Amino acid sequence: MNNIKEKSDSLFMNTYGRFPAVMVEGKGCILKDDTGKEYLDFVAGIAVCSLGHCHPAVTAAIVAQAGRLAHVSNLYYTLPQTELAELLVANSFADRVFLANSGAEVNEGAIKLARKHGGPGRYEIISLEGSFHGRTLATVAATGQARFHKGFEPLPDGFVHAPFGDLAALEKMISAKTCAILCEPLQGEGGVRPLPLEYLQGIRKLCDRHGLALIFDEVQVGMGRTGRLFAYEHFGVEPDIMTLAKALGNGLPIGALLARQEVAASFTPGDHASTFGGNPVVCAAAVTVMQTMLADGFLDAVTRRGEYLAGRLQGVAEQFPGLAAGVRGLGLIQGLVLTPRGAGLGAEMVKGLFARGVLANFAGGVALRFIPPLVVSESQIDEMVNRLQDVFRTL
Ligand SMILES: *Cc1c(COP(=O)(O)O)cnc(C)c1O
Repeated sequence: MNNIKEKSDSLFMNTYGRFPAVMVEGKGCILKDDTGKEYLDFVAGIAVCSLGHCHPAVTAAIVAQAGRLAHVSNLYYTLPQTELAELLVANSFADRVFLANSGAEVNEGAIKLARKHGGPGRYEIISLEGSFHGRTLATVAATGQARFHKGFEPLPDGFVHAPFGDLAALEKMISAKTCAILCEPLQGEGGVRPLPLEYLQGIRKLCDRHGLALIFDEVQVGMGRTGRLFAYEHFGVEPDIMTLAKALGNGLPIGALLARQEVAASFTPGDHASTFGGNPVVCAAAVTVMQTMLADGFLDAVTRRGEYLAGRLQGVAEQFPGLAAGVRGLGLIQGLVLTPRGAGLGAEMVKGLFARGVLANFAGGVALRFIPPLVVSESQIDEMVNRLQDVFRTL
């Protein structure tokens, strides 16, 4: 382990604060490091490995497609990407799809599409304070948290941030330059913060009234995480544009940009492209992910286990009122919101969990975030909670 840790630390740019573990294999909700220590994974690659590590059907689809055709230019058609687009369109508000390789990349695509659709002079996008949209320059500019901006100015022009939850303030920011409103139905990195129902519905109405495109960034909360295939289904509102990534490939890199035809039609040949986007191996994995999640009972089970997880975390909050204030989330993205004293100990809690073989993280400086594979069992949730209580007792 030390060898790999030391080598890595001297080879890579210093962008990640890593835990001292070299992960070598995974199965379901369990990861194993090179000393044989096992971890209960409530991070899941940041809401990526939603079917669990090395899901057999996904592995089989990857292997079969890799043996047949691993890459071809988007100058030609392939079956896996067509199958994936068909599934995405059949199960969402959208009529059209563009495939890319990551969350930030599809958010870039969404920004370009919204600007092209807005037309000359209408380029400004309003996003929300506390949001997270990626690490490229434009998506950093869209991100409503100053700590991601620092050191990278000047950021691209045309992004403004509205205070969270204040519809009147948001409306005041709309001008002749505005082309879109961009938001996550539930802020993940911002601390597991769902948008209040009336707020999100109000944003939809503002977009309709002012002729703006509504963009939902479902990179983290889309693909079954909340107990519905897409988080917007909880709110009874549909976007005009949506982005997906993390869980779509269960670990293979993929992003999807979806839109209604009237909006998508603003892109014409030459406007946007990606060399790797729609790669057949990655799309074969994503098709299997979609089919598995759409199978009878899968999403209902996510809802049930999400309620179970939330209930257990609520118990922890009641047991340790000095550290935890409550629980919020949807389905299997749940946050244990910490008190100010607890938040000061957030990093220590995550370290204590790690030492006890549980992976979790601290989001937005306010909440412990639990985003296990969607196949997590009640007994694995119980085991995680036991170790969490153990950590809290030491603080
Ligand atoms: C992770 C995330 C992104 C960025 O995705 P990458 O694949 O890391 O570029 C964008 N938006 C949200 C909401 C995310 O959680």
